[in-house]
Amino acid sequence: MDAGGTGSSRVIETRMRGAGLRVTRPRLAVYALLRDLGGHHSADEVLRLLQGRRIAMSRASVFNVLNDLTGAGLVMLCDAGPGRTLYEAFDHWHHHFVCRQCQRILDVPCTQGEKPCLHPELPGPGYLIDEAQVIFRGLCPACREAQRDS
Ligand SMILES: [Zn+2]
Ligand SMILES: [Zn+2]
Repeated sequence: MDAGGTGSSRVIETRMRGAGLRVTRPRLAVYALLRDLGGHHSADEVLRLLQGRRIAMSRASVFNVLNDLTGAGLVMLCDAGPGRTLYEAFDHWHHHFVCRQCQRILDVPCTQGEKPCLHPELPGPGYLIDEAQVIFRGLCPACREAQRDS
């Protein structure tokens, strides 16, 4: 159907199977949406945007699908602060910068390029760390500028 589009459904289906997920319409719809839009979106935003595409899904199933896709490594979760869990189509492993003032979120390259890029000192043996996500917080240039002016 959308053979020429960026979210070519055949590619998406192949990725989904490769990640061990059964291909379902809701999963395809959510994944295609995140890929098409780019950037970081909350589950509620995803729900609203799906409605804009005339795809009816309950809030609970949007959460379930996002969980499945995240678990399969197709979607990446960005924990941007209290009550702000954001999702994005996984492209490459990276971290995030969140501006305290305007809440802007920026992708920050991972210096190692792969998980886990940090190895903490753990209280004992037996742990397996496979991921470390870093959130950098501070002020973006625009907010710093605004602060200087006031
Ligand atoms: Zn800012
Ligand atoms: Zn990101």
